[in-house]
Amino acid sequence: YQRIVLASRPQGQVAADNFRLETLAIPEISEGEVLIRNHFLSLDPYMRGRMEDAKSYAAPQAIDETMIGGTVGEVIASKNPRFAVGDKVLGMLGWTEVGVSDGVLMRKLDTTHIPLSAYLGAVGMPGLTAWYGLTQIMQPKSGETVVVSAASGAVGSVVGQLAKQMGCRVVGIAGGAEKCAYVVKELGFDACVDYKAGQLHADLTAATPDGIDAVFENVGGEIFDASLARMNPFGRIALCGMISGYNGEQISIKNARTFLTMRLTLRGFIVSEHMDLWPQGLQELGAQVASGKLKFRESVAEGIASAPDAFIGLLKGKNFGKQLVKLI
Ligand code: NDP
Repeated sequence: YQRIVLASRPQGQVAADNFRLETLAIPEISEGEVLIRNHFLSLDPYMRGRMEDAKSYAAPQAIDETMIGGTVGEVIASKNPRFAVGDKVLGMLGWTEVGVSDGVLMRKLDTTHIPLSAYLGAVGMPGLTAWYGLTQIMQPKSGETVVVSAASGAVGSVVGQLAKQMGCRVVGIAGGAEKCAYVVKELGFDACVDYKAGQLHADLTAATPDGIDAVFENVGGEIFDASLARMNPFGRIALCGMISGYNGEQISIKNARTFLTMRLTLRGFIVSEHMDLWPQGLQELGAQVASGKLKFRESVAEGIASAPDAFIGLLKGKNFGKQLVKLI
């Protein structure tokens, strides 16, 4: 089977030669273990941080080890009474076609009404991230204006749809006319500003005539500054990500004075630190995906060898929706 390891740490932009494809023999499993064939790998922005040897909320990815990451797949051999051959499972096996688990962090999945891949997106970590930031930090009231950046992505798309259900005016920010059209027409946002069109401030002002009450920030930099300039008094900001700085770009906040003048509250959060709320959030998201109420979109790269390029693309906005790698 094949896997991808971290070969070297990136200097600035991630490059294909930071990764190495390896071929290994399928391992034997011991008592208590399960052997899994992955069907989908999840590619997520946080992986860029793990490639670095810097102080952060999580330990760095080790060199020459399988790249970390969420996976969904099928049990192909089991010496663990909790799992049978054929079970569909969610795990953290990383960028590999086959993996061994002791079952502790493995979760069995019901794919009757929810497609397997959705457990890596809207009904998984990204969906939960959206749910957490919106319901626990932003707490918007009906009629308020909510802005979300990287709006067409795995997290942003869920934020906006849930905020619409709460009765908010929802404005997305995304890169390109195609992504913006999707956000408004398919996901039902009230408006979407294309930050690549060259008039971010003017377009965001036009889309938020009553100002902004709550922001779900995924990008940072100029995009975040544009939202700050429109904040209403006592606005709330869930700081989820700053993807425009993940390759080492300096991120500054020009409109920082707004925190004072508008008496804003900003809270950063890491979704994996709130495991106590996952069952509740995933239950709600799962029910909505099963009924078709919560829509999602995927960018699917084919084959394990395509993972590095797909990941590099994710950090440049080439993905359109949740970025996955389909195996087999
Ligand atoms: P997405 O599916 O949204 O994909 C990333 C998107 O970010 C791209 O499609 C692109 O959208 C945008 N982007 C990429 N590079 C840049 C750039 N240089 N400048 C501006 N925009 C860029 O990813 P996710 O939904 O998985 O993640 C969204 C954010 O949420 C990330 O910042 C991520 O780190 C964060 N996150 C945080 C978690 C937490 O616990 N705090 C957990 C999970 C995610 P576009 O083309 O519209 O610019």
